[in-house]
Amino acid sequence: MTDFAQQRQRMVDRQLAGRGITDARVLEAMGTIPREAFVAGNLHEFAYEDSPLPIEAGQTISQPFIVARMLEAAEVGEGDNVLEIGAGSGYAAAVMAAIAASVYAIERHAELAELARQRFDALGYRNIQLRVGDGSGGWPEAGPFDAILAAAGGPAVPDVLRRQLAIGGRLVMPVGETLHRQRLVKVTRVAQDRFEQQDLDEVRFVPLVGSYGWSEQDAPPQPRAEPVAARAPVDGGGLPGMIHDAIEPLPDIDDPAFGRLFDRYGDARVVLLGEASHGTSEFYRARGAITRRLIEAHGFNIVAVEADWPDAAALDRYVRGRAATRQEPIFQRFPTWMWRNRDVARFIDWLRGYNKGKPMQAQAGFYGLDLYSLDSSIRAVIEYLDKVDPEAAQIARHRYGCLMPWSKEPAQYGRMALSAGYALCEKAVVQMLRELLSRRMEYAQADGEHFLDAAQNARLVSNAEAYYRAMYYGSAESWNLRDSHMFETLENLLAAGGSRSRAVVWAHNSHIGDARQTEMGRVREELNLGQLCRQRFGADAALLGFGTHTGTVAAADDWDEPMKVMEVRPSRRDSYERLFHDAGQPRGLLDLREGVHRQLCGRLASGRLERFIGVIYRPDTERWSHYVECSLPRQFDGYIWFDQTRAVEPLGEEPRTGIAETWPFGL
Ligand code: SAH
Repeated sequence: MTDFAQQRQRMVDRQLAGRGITDARVLEAMGTIPREAFVAGNLHEFAYEDSPLPIEAGQTISQPFIVARMLEAAEVGEGDNVLEIGAGSGYAAAVMAAIAASVYAIERHAELAELARQRFDALGYRNIQLRVGDGSGGWPEAGPFDAILAAAGGPAVPDVLRRQLAIGGRLVMPVGETLHRQRLVKVTRVAQDRFEQQDLDEVRFVPLVGSYGWSEQDAPPQPRAEPVAARAPVDGGGLPGMIHDAIEPLPDIDDPAFGRLFDRYGDARVVLLGEASHGTSEFYRARGAITRRLIEAHGFNIVAVEADWPDAAALDRYVRGRAATRQEPIFQRFPTWMWRNRDVARFIDWLRGYNKGKPMQAQAGFYGLDLYSLDSSIRAVIEYLDKVDPEAAQIARHRYGCLMPWSKEPAQYGRMALSAGYALCEKAVVQMLRELLSRRMEYAQADGEHFLDAAQNARLVSNAEAYYRAMYYGSAESWNLRDSHMFETLENLLAAGGSRSRAVVWAHNSHIGDARQTEMGRVREELNLGQLCRQRFGADAALLGFGTHTGTVAAADDWDEPMKVMEVRPSRRDSYERLFHDAGQPRGLLDLREGVHRQLCGRLASGRLERFIGVIYRPDTERWSHYVECSLPRQFDGYIWFDQTRAVEPLGEEPRTGIAETWPFGL
């Protein structure tokens, strides 16, 4: 679900007001104008991101903050006559038209001007005049102007433009000696022949191409120009060399020396192992090798993964050598390859072998942290109560009956609750959990082993009920509920195992890297499992991220679409991944713990893009779909690098070798 009004308000609060924009007219106009209408359909969902976006003709729509900054600096006010040079998508012109009396806009690409014109018509703007052509000389017939804004950067402020300012008028324009880096300057015409100039921020705009700007030869067409507030230098400024010196080369994953390199994290209470995609074999194999070492040499006894609790519980029974209780095949829900793959099966078989012959307390268990199993969790609670307390099972059937119509399509429940205006089933599921927990002693006496499992399923149902309702209030709320649920589950597992229990977690980098050090936390107010672990365990939580430059990945084009093996595009020049690629080490570990590589971490901390590939990979809109601004050395305590990677192999029809029975993967 995309709720643009809400995203728009969030953009105004966080990206604009939160960064010091105070002009109420600008905040109001940008809080009203539908920015999504100014970009192509496949980019609608990114319209309120904190970045520029590509538009037709190889140009860009400016980052929201930049638009606001320029309008505020130009003091665009009611009754003003305004000129914009470089109308592009038409977005900034529309914002100005909502404030000023009249807007004149010029765009050199006819294709863009035509689209902008259609948008102005559709949205009902009558006070914008748009023409196609070179705007670097202004629009003298329509002047004088109270404000002139140039959305493209030239080598200097053209005199002809200054002369089109009214007395008291303001001109804001990016000016720079090179094509793509400029300083934003503000010129005010204080008297007929007196101009004052002010230097504002460092920025990156597309070049102003025309008689008073750069020539066509100076500025060949750029496929992906990006006017953004200046960030880290793209060339890496010597960083790849520093990474090369600091990164510790990793041996082959199957070499026992691989796991030993992670002994430095062996004293932690929780070690969280990330992944930069949900379908890369090296990430799974490396996590398997590290986990084996942590279990064998450091006494870790909980493996908790980003998977559904009931499915992982079936694997837990398998690794402990118990009989299957449920016959249906596990990990059947999209994305199946995330857990039904060869690398997971190998790890699970190892764990079964490790546990064999050991008493229960000396075994390591396998658990799921996620909350997408409403249907099977409801059934698990009822099945459990049928065994220990048939009367309570009847009550559970009745209470959970409220959710049953939606248990296969729980998102529908959220929508229904929203339109009904209240949380229909909340009371019933919360009550069920409370009752189950209050009878802990009684039930645990009858059947101690399965109580934890049933209580967790009841907790999951309760949190999932809230999760599906929150989905309709915006992505941050539901994300936060999901990661809080994962954290709560992890804490319960640790508590159930006593003070000596230690956990290894497998989840995506987006759950594991401290959200406060990424756009997730800074802009979207999202928290995550890694952050909650740091807040709770301090230095006893080790957060390890993974990254890759290129190769193949198992992913889908869209939700519920079939899995494909896709090519991973080489990492972007302005990303962390590219720095690691340029460092020239095919695989390695960079220790990011405090004080280890102080100088390098300091230089890496200022922020860059980092790639997040999930179960869906969209190479065509990769920048907007998959890259996020992060501070990598603050996000993780270690970074594990595989320059070239390949897709996981899903478990298919062919029989597995190694174990005779078809359980647990049902092949
Ligand atoms: N305000 C626009 C920004 C577009 S990027 C938006 O928010 O969408 C800058 C635009 O300036 C590009 O579309 C580019 O084609 C245009 N441009 C560059 N030089 C120009 C010139 N001399 N005259 C008119 N437009 C120009």
